[in-house]
Amino acid sequence: MKEACGVVAIVAPGRDVAHICYDALYALQHRGQESAGMATFHNHQITVVKDNGLVSHVFADATLRALAGSIVIGHTRYSTSGSANWTAAQPVYRSAGSSGFAIAHNGNLTNTTALAEDAGLQFTSMLSDSDLVAELLAREVEAGHTLSGALGIVLARAEGAFSMVILEAGEVHAVRDPYGFRPLCLGRLGTEDAPEGWIVASESPALDVVGATFVREIDPGEMVSITKDGLTSVQLLEPAGDKQKLCIFEFVYFARPDTYLMGHQVHTTRRRMGELLAGQSPVDADIVMGVPDSGVPAAEGYAKASAIPFGYGLVKNRYIGRTFISPDQNKRAASVRRKLNPLRENIEGQRLVVVDDSIVRGTTTRAIVKMLRDAGAKEVHLRISSPPFMWPCYYGIDTPTRDDLLAANHSVAEMNDFIGSDSLEFISLENLRTAIQLDGECCDACLTGSYPAPTPVVLGTAGSRW
Ligand code: SF4
Repeated sequence: MKEACGVVAIVAPGRDVAHICYDALYALQHRGQESAGMATFHNHQITVVKDNGLVSHVFADATLRALAGSIVIGHTRYSTSGSANWTAAQPVYRSAGSSGFAIAHNGNLTNTTALAEDAGLQFTSMLSDSDLVAELLAREVEAGHTLSGALGIVLARAEGAFSMVILEAGEVHAVRDPYGFRPLCLGRLGTEDAPEGWIVASESPALDVVGATFVREIDPGEMVSITKDGLTSVQLLEPAGDKQKLCIFEFVYFARPDTYLMGHQVHTTRRRMGELLAGQSPVDADIVMGVPDSGVPAAEGYAKASAIPFGYGLVKNRYIGRTFISPDQNKRAASVRRKLNPLRENIEGQRLVVVDDSIVRGTTTRAIVKMLRDAGAKEVHLRISSPPFMWPCYYGIDTPTRDDLLAANHSVAEMNDFIGSDSLEFISLENLRTAIQLDGECCDACLTGSYPAPTPVVLGTAGSRW
């Protein structure tokens, strides 16, 4: 599974917003490593700089100095819809209206074909769903609507997940879909007594690194608009129900551990997952270890609740870029060896409890188990801090089809055989929900098949190819 983008928007009169945006994007690098970009407004014109690569590759100090102005939006991208090439990098610019506009999007629209056909377009000619939204917005602006009016018209017809930031002359807008699938929060730069501006970002650590104070999350369906004179908010779209549907995998895997989501620190929820997993699926072992990074807090929780010592068994190379992410199954084992290396002295002759966040295809997990056995592990007991991943995601996370989801086509016993572990247990859905402590406010469609928003295909049974 791959994350699908991080977004930032900043308005701070008199401040060097491109450098602030750089720091915020850097804090969101985990949400997408394929490309990065920014758009600023200055002297009546919008300037966009974007390229393939990490934030630090795309922006040199000179580039940031050239991005003048006190209003900016930024983006880090991992593609779920559309091409992964340079032209699909964001922000997407359109020249409609007085100075044009630029948008940056985290999520995935599920009715792109219908949206395009209604407008007499072919979605296949578009680069991405963000490109389609930009085109539809441009048409509404050309027809005489304001950009915020156009957003109301176009996004009312859009289905799926979107946490979006939009820049126009002197103003930014931040909008969240009616379900609130993907995170989006608001922070204040400066202090209440001496305010310096506002920042919107996918996750709260992006606020922390720039010295901003967390104010609140953007509500499902809400649009916040910010100018140099301040901030306004409207309920642009009706919320989809009385409960939000934040992606449950933001807690399990995607979000940074120091991120706060709906009042809960992600690291704390991951520890609780491990504690509950230990009570639910105990095992006699010598050491508990986590698969870095997101498996580690759950392993700490498992160790605490089971009274089995916590230890480190795998070292992660933190400098693996997109170049080394091999798409085909045969290269996956080599890819795992580049990323992880065992700590032999902690492993040799030991009965291990290995805690990981999820099993998708199973090939990575199998390679990890083999690596641990080759390093001398006596037993490997896998404990997974999410229930079996059975259904594809349509809301902004890149997942395989059901044919390639191990749990969709195999029993837990068969998965255990395939992976080569001594035992395999998944946290129950009930325990996962208990760990997160949000009552029905999360999407868990990939675990249950119960999709809160329309999907772009007719859902089949296990074994069917979508
Ligand atoms: S289907 Fe799964 S990965 Fe996708 S938004 Fe829902 S919980 Fe998240």
